[in-house]
Amino acid sequence: MTDRGRPGDKGGSPQRSHVGGGAKLLLSRLRALMANQAQDPKRLERVVELIANTMVADVCSIYLKTEDESLMLMATQGLRPEAVGRTRMKENEGLVGLVSATARPLRLTDAFSHPRFSYRPETGEDPFHSFLGVPILRGGRVLGVLVVQNRTERAYDDEEAEALQTVAMVLAELVAAAADTLSAGLRQTRPVELRGRTLNEGLASGKVHLYDPVVPPARLFAADAEEEERRLNDALESLRNSIDSMLTRAGPVLFGESRDVLETYRLFAHDPSWEARLVEAVRTGLSAEAAVDRVRREHRARLESARDSLLRERLHDLEDLENRLLRQLDGNDGGGRVAPPGAILVASRIGPAELLEYRDAQLAGIALEEAGAGSHAAIVARAIGIPAVGGLAGLVTRAEDGDVMIIDGDGGVVHIRPEAEITANFQARVALSEQTQIELGRLRDEPAKTTDGVEVDLYINAGLSFDLDHLDTVGAKGVGLFRTEFQFMASETMPGLEEQSTFYKSVIERAGERPVTFRTIDLGGDKIAPFMGRREREENPALGWRALRMALDHPFFFRRQLRALIRASRGKTLRLMFPMVTTVEEFEAARRLLDSEMEWAIKFGRDLPNRLQVGAMVETPSLAFSIDQLKGKADFLSIGTNDLMQFFFAADRDNARLAGRYDILSRPALRLLLRMRQRADEAELPITVCGEAGGRSLEAITLAALGYRKLSMQAARIAPIKLLIRSVDMSVLAPRVQGLLDSSEQSIRNALLSLATDLGLKI
Ligand code: PEP
Ligand code: MG
Repeated sequence: MTDRGRPGDKGGSPQRSHVGGGAKLLLSRLRALMANQAQDPKRLERVVELIANTMVADVCSIYLKTEDESLMLMATQGLRPEAVGRTRMKENEGLVGLVSATARPLRLTDAFSHPRFSYRPETGEDPFHSFLGVPILRGGRVLGVLVVQNRTERAYDDEEAEALQTVAMVLAELVAAAADTLSAGLRQTRPVELRGRTLNEGLASGKVHLYDPVVPPARLFAADAEEEERRLNDALESLRNSIDSMLTRAGPVLFGESRDVLETYRLFAHDPSWEARLVEAVRTGLSAEAAVDRVRREHRARLESARDSLLRERLHDLEDLENRLLRQLDGNDGGGRVAPPGAILVASRIGPAELLEYRDAQLAGIALEEAGAGSHAAIVARAIGIPAVGGLAGLVTRAEDGDVMIIDGDGGVVHIRPEAEITANFQARVALSEQTQIELGRLRDEPAKTTDGVEVDLYINAGLSFDLDHLDTVGAKGVGLFRTEFQFMASETMPGLEEQSTFYKSVIERAGERPVTFRTIDLGGDKIAPFMGRREREENPALGWRALRMALDHPFFFRRQLRALIRASRGKTLRLMFPMVTTVEEFEAARRLLDSEMEWAIKFGRDLPNRLQVGAMVETPSLAFSIDQLKGKADFLSIGTNDLMQFFFAADRDNARLAGRYDILSRPALRLLLRMRQRADEAELPITVCGEAGGRSLEAITLAALGYRKLSMQAARIAPIKLLIRSVDMSVLAPRVQGLLDSSEQSIRNALLSLATDLGLKI
């Protein structure tokens, strides 16, 4: 950093070094300056002059990050003007580098004695002892550092640090909005390519829509401070009311632990110190939105450096609450989320329930920093039917609202601000894939039958009512997995009996003659309904209190769903299955509840299905080894490979770091799957695979070669899988695949791939 300097010529240095003046005065002057000189290229000079004068500082300087991430002195009052545009600090150099690297303010009475102090002679000779530097933060990214210095050894107080941080926030917007006239490296203009993992295939392009609300620069200042304080108070009150009513409406004992989460929200929302910080910020002259944003930036910066997991969790909660408050101010809380049609949603992390809120938003794609391919967010992206990529490190700090982005869901790549060649290549691929779609559409009414006459029944996985329309367009046999929890995840309050049964009835009607297999509610883990609060606090949620475990602990709530399913299936076949069954006893307990609901309906003459088929999802290794014992108890089985494989390999399906590390196309996993199919045949239990693996080409034909005759997958995969199966000669493929299970071949995937190529399959 430039820790020494000489007072500049303009105005000289005040005799007594005194930094004073509140944020309010600073902001109102800054506002006037910005209003008068919106297009002035010397704006930064005027800003530093203004800060130095108002705070009675000897030096005020702005350092901004350049394209190579070094920090360039862009404007100064007090250091030598010649150093502007020349003095450049490396990312981690000096005190300025330290502020930038930690993204936290730094206050020193004697800068020289700090071990990180670095001397830059070109800026001037005279020593400036005291130092106050604050990061210029925007969207979690450090754009630069704002510094004031005084000659005397002086302790800057909290109010001064606060004031400078508020100014830094305004400055961040000023800089980002006018990067063209300020410096090349500020608003990001460079094309960026990020590689992650496919969450859903397909190609899309659109404008970035950041998930976390953004406060536009035009809304930074309050026109009328009192009015703004009123707006803030109103929004706070609605926020509290909505949390209170969520707590009330969540019903009595349902989700003990999630009540705690909501209670935590309530505690924060009523926390006087949080409110005080917001009000304080508004009183400096910021708009209500900017005040919330200002406090949110601090929490974010703390979150970036926090290691303690409990503290991180709390900071996440606070950030969630601040985002809710921003939406409240925007008049957009509750109901579905909005985004410009055709936008690409960009988020660091997003839960499946939040993603579902965008179901009507006509998004073109989704790009996420976190999330693995097996995550439920990915499943929702597939249900909405748009290309999605996850595991994109650094995404949120690189993409800005409104940037053009291309999503290549097939390759797991995104291009931010793409160059012309990339765009041209993208357009060519879109044209090609449209052509392929037309060709695949021709297969709609053809069976998925191998050349030697083996038919594999293909079903779709669904969860939203418009998914049912795909049945016709792709020509599937029915719905192999209907994820009923989506309805719960998409509603603010718990759906009642009537609401559930009406929904199920509409699903059954839309499916027509085709069977629908309803999976009873599978919440918990990362699938959290809004009325449960945002997150269950369990050490290992995937291994925790979820799915059937939760349902069996709350028979009242579970029976309500069973009753709704029975009622909705009047005069038809009701096919339902239980998720995450771990022991045969659990299956029996769930079945008993179902039987008593049937008896209740018979006794009171209520609507009844004319046939009942009850299945167990095999998602735990424990049940995979109990298939023989389900004979005569269950009517069918369905393998949830997403969960089964995460437990089999002890690898979190939602962890982007582990994605791709263990392969279902490996000897141990395939041996298990073969064994399961054989046991199911022996027990005369029809068995389906409904995990995501069934919709992947190589996996699908391998499963078929292991003897699976029913696969359920996302609708978009039906046609390609059908095409592939139609190119298979099973009498040749099956023995060769099964032979691989005993061979010493290193990679089964590669061996399968070359086998498929050898046999001329349409992979
Ligand atoms: C599975 O686990 O494979 C499955 C189909 O269920 P979900 O992905 O909804 O957990
Ligand atoms: Mg599952």
